[in-house]
Amino acid sequence: MSHRFVDEDGSVGGGMEVRHVHPYQAVKTYRCPGCDHEIRPGEGHEVVVPRDAPQDRRHWHSSCWKRANRPKGAKQAAKKQQAAKRTRKKR
Ligand SMILES: [Zn+2]
Repeated sequence: MSHRFVDEDGSVGGGMEVRHVHPYQAVKTYRCPGCDHEIRPGEGHEVVVPRDAPQDRRHWHSSCWKRANRPKGAKQAAKKQQAAKRTRKKR
């Protein structure tokens, strides 16, 4: 169920460091730049830190980060997935 959060693809290159934040480490609410939704405390996610601008770090949903970094061809499928998620989880 929470399986996708344990994937380890931390190496992205391009001067970024991506760290996985485990659910127990997430104690604040963040705004995910990928979907503009909140990341709630207790939700596993990714922290992306530009190496030359560490103060500019961003918190992403793991799935949003992966989607944003996926090659173009995979984007269509991802969009579909996101749409399905949206209808399931109304806020
Ligand atoms: Zn997101």
